Amino acid sequence: MIVELKNITKYYQNAGSAEKRIILDDLSLAIEKGESIAIVGPSGSGKSTLLNVISSLDTANSGSVIFDGEDLSQKNERELANFRNQNLGFVFQSHHLLPQLNLIENVLLPFIPVKDKKQKQDAEKRALELLDFVGLSELIYQRPGQMSGGECQRAAVVRALIHQPNLILADEPTGSLDKKSAEQLGDLLVSINEKQGVSVVIVTHSMDLAKKMKKIYQLEEGSLKQLTIGNE
Ligand code: ADP
Ligand code: ADP
Repeated sequence: MIVELKNITKYYQNAGSAEKRIILDDLSLAIEKGESIAIVGPSGSGKSTLLNVISSLDTANSGSVIFDGEDLSQKNERELANFRNQNLGFVFQSHHLLPQLNLIENVLLPFIPVKDKKQKQDAEKRALELLDFVGLSELIYQRPGQMSGGECQRAAVVRALIHQPNLILADEPTGSLDKKSAEQLGDLLVSINEKQGVSVVIVTHSMDLAKKMKKIYQLEEGSLKQLTIGNE
């Protein structure tokens, strides 16, 4: 088991109001190692909130998040930041690449403060391998403005993988892409899952993307229900 959510409840309460808006309602979910899952559901149903609870960017009001056997609620902010760096890769709807840096610089950005020469070289080697894996070898000196939306999103996936995470969390990763680029990005996430053994959790509106994952869950009224229209 890579992640286990146990009885997670998350609500928002406006200042001065007694009323709670429950977003996640006593929700439990087990994600196995090597699994790929999609979370679908209407806008505002709490999908991003759920992803943020899994990644410890947000905390639930009750319940626990167990990551690889460790209870994240026992960790302080600093430990959580380390935990995220070591275990998680994030992909968002927009690529968040820096426009003034070229592709390889963007991917290696997290290693700028690293002093250890060997560690830097290893990261460079890994960056080149990953860029090859996603088909961007030819573009390493291009800036994001000279790349297509799909290429930028694939670059964002490489950046998410550079720290060798155990789990990739993607929030609407194809939301800003045309159909063909979305299809390619979906296939890329599948191959990362299958060939590199990284677990994948995506939140999406797109059933085409969701169906590429091994399991699909629908989030509605604070609860998850597994859908059986996947690719089994
Ligand atoms: P989804 O990703 O499914 O669109 P979200 O998780 O972004 O849904 O949001 C779920 C609900 O929680 C929405 O109604 C949103 O307005 C509300 N919400 C999200 N963040 C906050 C916040 N910080 N304070 C109050 N309400 C919030
Ligand atoms: P959009 O492209 O629709 O503006 P994104 O997909 O970029 O939204 O971001 C989705 C959510 O992830 C937002 O709530 C945003 O605040 C959050 N987010 C974006 N980048 C980061 C980051 N580097 N670290 C943590 N949260 C982020």
